[in-house]
Amino acid sequence: MSSRKVVVIGAGPAGYVCAIRLAQLGQKVTVVEKDQLGGTCLNVGCIPSKAMIAAGALMDRVRHASTMGLTVKDMELDVEKLVSWKAGIVKKLTGGIGILLGKHGVEHVVGEARLQDRSTVVVKGQGGETRLSCDDIVIATGSVPSGVPGFEIDGTQVWSSTEALAPEEVPGHLVVIGGGYIGLELGFLYSKLGSKVTVVEFTEGALPGQDRDCVKIIERSLKKRKIKLLTKTAAKGYEAAKDKLFVKVEKRDGGDTDTIECDQILCTVGRRPFSEGLGLEHVGLEVDGRGFLPTDQRMRTSVPNIYAIGDIAGQPMLAHKGSKEGLVAAGVIAGEAEEYDALCVPAVIFTSPEMASVGLQEAEAREQGHDVVVGQFPFAASGRAMSLMETDGFVKIVSDAKTDLVLGVHMVGPEVTELIAEAAMAIELGATSEDIARTIHAHPTLPEAMMEAAEAVHGMAVHIYQKK
Ligand SMILES: Cc1cc2nc3c(=O)[nH]c(=O)nc-3n(C[C@H](O)[C@H](O)[C@H](O)COP(=O)(O)OP(=O)(O)OC[C@H]3O[C@@H](n4cnc5c(N)ncnc54)[C@H](O)[C@@H]3O)c2cc1C
Repeated sequence: MSSRKVVVIGAGPAGYVCAIRLAQLGQKVTVVEKDQLGGTCLNVGCIPSKAMIAAGALMDRVRHASTMGLTVKDMELDVEKLVSWKAGIVKKLTGGIGILLGKHGVEHVVGEARLQDRSTVVVKGQGGETRLSCDDIVIATGSVPSGVPGFEIDGTQVWSSTEALAPEEVPGHLVVIGGGYIGLELGFLYSKLGSKVTVVEFTEGALPGQDRDCVKIIERSLKKRKIKLLTKTAAKGYEAAKDKLFVKVEKRDGGDTDTIECDQILCTVGRRPFSEGLGLEHVGLEVDGRGFLPTDQRMRTSVPNIYAIGDIAGQPMLAHKGSKEGLVAAGVIAGEAEEYDALCVPAVIFTSPEMASVGLQEAEAREQGHDVVVGQFPFAASGRAMSLMETDGFVKIVSDAKTDLVLGVHMVGPEVTELIAEAAMAIELGATSEDIARTIHAHPTLPEAMMEAAEAVHGMAVHIYQKK
């Protein structure tokens, strides 16, 4: 197959990964980015949040290290230095992407792209407009924060996650609107940095949609840290007076109202796919009711030479899902027999303790007709977790009773954002819980909890007592 000319719009983890893979497969690639290389993930999402969270976690550990006999007397937080350290990591990574694109011969055009027709992309840059003609177009325009009526994100009184990741100071009292994963990650972070934190959540509990047994541990931790979680509560608006903000909240069911005095509002009610100004109408493309661009398993939209990947292409809006789709689209364009056939997409949440999951939850598995067996192992019985002073949480394996196939794994506890990789691999490779149980796991490590949870599926965990 001869080389095709491809324009990729957006250089987030979906777009830049796709562009590099296209180049590796011998295609001529131009990537158009209106902002910074790396997109949300590298600039204002995954990477900066996890850098800040790592600093918060370290502060927290130092604070509690006296149990181990370590007392640090004068720990001080230099917010400016913390933010500039984080910015340095972002700069290194985004610079690295620029270098990688260059080395692979990918042309990088700076500017805002729009579709003129099915084979022409117009880029509005500093020097005016440029027309790029191509054989294929990959749309990877990502997502932007959603707002809540009454809370316009202004970067000063009302932050989005972007401003929360570059503070000038740590607010006295932070009200977080939205108890999803971004809100809770940042809520825990600010609590560790010294803020009083209140989280306002509309649904029944934190982290809607996640395994409820795992969430219980997170909710217990919120309580322990004195982070107030107001559930079934709607934030209705706010007023500012005398250097303070007054957030009006209303109980979802009874209509009771209250006002919370705070210093800063952080709005994290979710993100919405972004395709404004892209000119989809010029090529006959339409987004669905939620703003996503529908695709098939090969990432093709309804227009044969136009592909969509990443957050714009649907849930889950996660960086690694977008990157995978980028690899698939690149393969398809290069004429390979690629399709998106992942059995599962792991999800990680950097709360305290961390949470991670992959595959089906118990209820979902039952709804799909599986006879389910669950094996669970608590970190309280793990020597490694004890030595890390992080014994809250567990590993839970959801298995099919007939075939023993692992259907889902849900974890809450120390380093589970790393541990989940083994679970994802197990599901992708069609492992049974017996396969995991029979695999020797190094001692003393946290992944032993995965092995013991697999043993527990068969009532055979060694380091806990399981009643017959
Ligand atoms: C605070 C926070 C924490 C997060 N943490 C995690 C995490 O831990 N793990 C995880 O998997 N995900 C996380 N995410 C989500 C993750 O960042 C996104 O899922 C991911 O960035 C989506 O990648 P993408 O390439 O589809 O889009 P984006 O990263 O949004 O990139 C899209 C790019 O397209 C560009 N663009 C848009 N329109 C045009 C146009 N017309 N012309 C030119 N360029 C255009 C944008 O400027 C942007 O750079 C987090 C997000 C946030 C906000």
